Amino acid sequence: MSDTKKWRPATELVHGGTLRSQFNETSEALFLTQGYVYPTAEAAEARFKGEDPGYIYSRYANPTVSMFEDRMAALEGAEGGRGFSSGMAAVSAALLAQVEAGDHVVASRALFGSCLYVVEDLLPRYGVSSTIINGNSLEEWKNAVQPNTKAFFLETPTNPTLDVIDIQAVSDIAHEVGARVVIDNVFATPLWQSPLKFGADVVVYSATKHIDGQGRCLGGVVLSDVEWLDGQMKNLIRHTGPSMSPFNAWVLLKGLETLPVRVERQTQSARYLADQLAEVSNINRLIYPGRDDHPHADIVAKQMKAGSTLIAFDVKGGKEAAFKVLNNLKIGKISNNLGDAKTLLTHPATTTHQRLSEEQRAELGITDGLLRLSVGLEDQEDLLEDLVSALEQARA
Ligand SMILES: *Cc1c(COP(=O)(O)O)cnc(C)c1O
Repeated sequence: MSDTKKWRPATELVHGGTLRSQFNETSEALFLTQGYVYPTAEAAEARFKGEDPGYIYSRYANPTVSMFEDRMAALEGAEGGRGFSSGMAAVSAALLAQVEAGDHVVASRALFGSCLYVVEDLLPRYGVSSTIINGNSLEEWKNAVQPNTKAFFLETPTNPTLDVIDIQAVSDIAHEVGARVVIDNVFATPLWQSPLKFGADVVVYSATKHIDGQGRCLGGVVLSDVEWLDGQMKNLIRHTGPSMSPFNAWVLLKGLETLPVRVERQTQSARYLADQLAEVSNINRLIYPGRDDHPHADIVAKQMKAGSTLIAFDVKGGKEAAFKVLNNLKIGKISNNLGDAKTLLTHPATTTHQRLSEEQRAELGITDGLLRLSVGLEDQEDLLEDLVSALEQARA
């Protein structure tokens, strides 16, 4: 089984969780199997009774998926992790595992679109009420609490306006009333923010983003304490089947090996581009966690090791100008994915957040000129030239 000593992140990401077969392969083996055979009927009985810890069926667990889960847990400093077929399967299970009809959930409005759907529309259909608030206001978290509140859910930095929410302060409010805190940590990546250290109880990732990092496959992961993972969560996974495919786990394991190299480089480039773009005259407002002018710079300093691989900026001239920027890019691609080796830009108001009303978008700061930039691994000078040239062509 895996080593128990805790190494620094870059080392854990190369070796953590590795299970070697009898062939002692260097690279992680891809166990593309649905099931497992038992040497005797008695062995099968013992395994189903839980007296023998071996594998039973890949909907429950699979060795390649286990390697991914253990490597993620080592990185996050969590007791355990569970892999999922997508980030949304992970988010849904993380919330469903702690509620039942009659319970209540509080969530911050600035959520990834599908996460908002789960909290605002899906949970209430099954008798779990929810209150959606402005996550930057501690008052609103406090005021939203009800006697039946079981979970707080938030994303920080938020998509797409990169607001940063104080995880410790929100966790303190939740714990006072016995609720558990679930953090969607996709934008920060496990390298730059460790929510468990600031009081959160559960961390979720869409592994589709930086963890794969090369736009190949979907995946998700939930990290928390073993007692919680072995409770309702275990039943949910076993009997509803949001399981991660071993093939995707294998791709994501390879992604984890290079995660620090990629994310450090992308963050460096993002910081450089943010500083340069902040000087461009047809940008109204530029948001980058890690710059002194970020609206929550104090919280960034407290809970994040570095900024982000993403930048948000508002182009003067609204939608028309923002579209011109996108259409004049030569390197940057128009896509709603993020955390990819390729630089990707999206216009949230007409894509990821078009489902929201104009008022809701305004409340979230999603203006018609806002672009979200996910910085890739290209040369930062090429990226700067590409962006400056496209912005130049979008000038009214
Ligand atoms: C992409 C994303 C998700 C959903 O993940 P999928 O892998 O696409 O299902 C959830 N939260 C955030 C912040 C994301 O960026």
